[in-house]
Amino acid sequence: MATIFSRIVAGEIPCYKVAEDERFFAFLDINPLAKGHTLVIPKQEVDYLFDLSDADLAAMQVFAKHIALAIGKAFPCRKVGQAVLGLEVPHAHIHLVPMQSEKDMLFSNPKLKLTDQEFQAVAAAIRAEL
Ligand code: 5GP
Repeated sequence: MATIFSRIVAGEIPCYKVAEDERFFAFLDINPLAKGHTLVIPKQEVDYLFDLSDADLAAMQVFAKHIALAIGKAFPCRKVGQAVLGLEVPHAHIHLVPMQSEKDMLFSNPKLKLTDQEFQAVAAAIRAEL
């Protein structure tokens, strides 16, 4: 059965899309730690990030880099942090989160509740910087 993220890529489940190419897809995390929190995934259905081939992992990181730089421009911060957890959704993904301090990367923090309009605006702001 397809993962929830594959269903997002296929357009079966809606998302706030940031970018895609032939191999990778970026969209907003639905439970963001901060405005701009984005997930980068391979379209290939692989659970564990480190099961990707060296070439695919390297290409995914370069794809994520461009998204991170755009997030940083759209949502000024000290740095955009990157994290890999993957304990909830069995489809490899990189979290990109704008940080003002180390605490902003705590996944136990309460998540933001954004309206549909706010999510749309966040995604549009990042896309405008790509
Ligand atoms: P992890 O697997 O890295 O522990 O967490 C999965 C992340 O995916 C969580 O931050 C969660 O909010 C996000 N997530 C789970 N389901 C969906 C979904 O259907 N849409 C979006 N946009 N994000 C999701």
